[in-house]
Amino acid sequence: MRRITFLVYAVLWMMLISLSYYQQLKDTKRYAEDIAIRQAAMFFDHIVLIRQWNSSHGGVYAVDDGQIRADSTASSFVETKDGRRLAWIGPTQMARELADAAKSKTVIRFHVASIRPSSADNKADEWELRALLAFRNGETSVRGIAVLDNQPYYRYIAPLPAAENCLTCAGLDDDGGGAISVSIPVASIDAFISERLRQLGVTHGIIASVGVIVLLLSYLAQVRLSKRLDKAKSRLQLAYLDSLTLLPNRRYYDAFVKREWKRAMRHQYPISMIMIDIDYFKAYNDSLGHPEGDQCLRQVARTLKRFFRRPGDLIARYGGEEFCVVAACDANQILALAEILRKAIENMRLPHPNSKISEFVTISLGVSTIVPREHQEFEQLLHAADQALYNAKASGRNRVGR
Ligand code: GH3
Ligand code: MG
Ligand code: MG
Repeated sequence: MRRITFLVYAVLWMMLISLSYYQQLKDTKRYAEDIAIRQAAMFFDHIVLIRQWNSSHGGVYAVDDGQIRADSTASSFVETKDGRRLAWIGPTQMARELADAAKSKTVIRFHVASIRPSSADNKADEWELRALLAFRNGETSVRGIAVLDNQPYYRYIAPLPAAENCLTCAGLDDDGGGAISVSIPVASIDAFISERLRQLGVTHGIIASVGVIVLLLSYLAQVRLSKRLDKAKSRLQLAYLDSLTLLPNRRYYDAFVKREWKRAMRHQYPISMIMIDIDYFKAYNDSLGHPEGDQCLRQVARTLKRFFRRPGDLIARYGGEEFCVVAACDANQILALAEILRKAIENMRLPHPNSKISEFVTISLGVSTIVPREHQEFEQLLHAADQALYNAKASGRNRVGR
């Protein structure tokens, strides 16, 4: 994993975590709203139950402690034998009393709202009025967020059941087309939401950090591993590559030839070799200097290397200014290849001020080919190529000997 890949993964991971956090945040708010509205609906059911209880008794009498906001009609009060004054309380009045109590003692507010209110207390506000009209169009309940006394509230409103058994109270306590709205301040669940958000923040923070740490650790482990691999690779290269020409060295060459020799023996096909030696190289060094000699060796190696792409063929630096080729081909093919190599070096036209045969750097080559038999050693091939090279040198250099 490269550094940029690690960074991309880390950013993607953080984006994923942020997305999850954002999604859960939205869910939490929706969930909290839902709970608040359900709470309001349950409250509504309680009020309806209380009203129904009141209705089923045709209204109830309560001791008038002076606090009761009973109807002003005289029939709303009775006197007991023992002289206590009782006030008659109908379902709507009872709900109104409870609403007052809820308002002063809890954060929850409810309101009996009506299009035709029996009292000013039951006059619908704007939000309730819209809901009451919606009920006429078939809605069974309305929920939402609305501002009440400059404060946002979750609000729930539903119509009062039509068949409230209030036979005896009819006409006295009537909120025709009435409904009850229940309102819960948004602020009351703020604490719950912020606690939940804090928890979400902590868990997401932990997950994000763990992910980034794991990524970082695997990145660092990989960096260490690839460093070790690079070291091992360069050690291996040092063992098998010639550092000056970057061609395979003699050690690699020997192992390669032995392998190819055995294969040729198994399949009985010819194996060929070329020994290459730069002509008058000592004189080259003497005239231009050793560093120039090194440069010449590099250039010759680069030119020769271009002709070796097949996996069965190999060129190596054999030592000093000598190169060696091994190829799975017959005598004619190796002869042709050797001639190509000779021409390629000649055509480089590298000036050689001290050569006795040319003004440019030239090479002499010796070729040999054998179809290996049992009990034959590959040194025989080497020896034959060496002999051929000697012949090339002896017969004038810059040529291919056999
Ligand atoms: P011949 O045509 O008979 O091959 O003559 P020659 O001068 O090339 O042969 P000789 O074997 O006498 O000289 C080889 C020279 O190659 C001697 C040495 O200084 C030079 N040489 C060997 N290895 C290196 C090297 O790595 N760098 C440089 N610059 N010269 C090298
Ligand atoms: Mg030599
Ligand atoms: Mg030489």
